[in-house]
Amino acid sequence: MAFAFETALKQLPEELAGALTSRLTQPFTGYLSAEDVQALEQDSGLSGHDLLLAMLPLAASFSQAPVSHFEVGAIARGRNGDLYFGANLELAGEALFHSVHAEQSAISHAWLSGETGLTEIVVNASPCGHCRQFMNELNSADELVIVLPGQDNGALHHYLPYAFGPKDLGVEVGLMAASGQALQLQDADALVQAALEQARLSYAPYSHSPAAVALACRDGQVFVGRYAENAAFNPSLPPMQMALAAMARHRVGFDQIQRAVLVEKADGQISQVNAATAALAAISPVTLEVNRAS
Ligand SMILES: [Zn+2]
Repeated sequence: MAFAFETALKQLPEELAGALTSRLTQPFTGYLSAEDVQALEQDSGLSGHDLLLAMLPLAASFSQAPVSHFEVGAIARGRNGDLYFGANLELAGEALFHSVHAEQSAISHAWLSGETGLTEIVVNASPCGHCRQFMNELNSADELVIVLPGQDNGALHHYLPYAFGPKDLGVEVGLMAASGQALQLQDADALVQAALEQARLSYAPYSHSPAAVALACRDGQVFVGRYAENAAFNPSLPPMQMALAAMARHRVGFDQIQRAVLVEKADGQISQVNAATAALAAISPVTLEVNRAS
């Protein structure tokens, strides 16, 4: 799968490809610090949105689209200037609602990395309605700018007028705002504790059903996903999908999953068990281990 990265590099302007090759630590998993970006601007002669737009093929190289064969790449910029890449993920053989969109991958990448707000999202195709609604959940939705190839930059609210959002359901704190939920689970297992820690950081203001997933791979790597709920419900991003999108950004094959742990609140209004089980079954024979926290 590193081949996809090499192919994407060839689509970039020569000076940018050269600058990236000399600066990036391999394997590239889709993160660039603000300092990296500054250095790339100097080395490549591209600046601002031009640089981000030029790097979209690299973001799209993380795509796994066995159904649509339509590779979408997105780059989210955090408030301090760091960049988080993401791409679409489709699970062959499973219902399409299990899919992760590129914007969701990039946003969840930023969130899992500790970002608490975004200023821009750069995408190689116009954001679909589902993604516009997903982005409207962000605590930074009012300031978020959408950057598309060949178009004037527009605020999210330009792309989603008359929006229905968190405030319509009485929720004042949006997705990615720093928060933490008190969840307790007595279990010494490190993977369970990793999932518990992420469940505490998950966002479920409507169902009050925090949840997270931790996946352990054969080489010892652990990938996590938090539940990200949405005021319109359907665009919510389930924790299993978020963890699988992280694996895709690391180009780790799903056949490498050795254990899969879900932690969710014991008395939540909803449960992630069936959805996570179905998504996992589409890509791995591993059985989901379910833990309920109080
Ligand atoms: Zn979308």
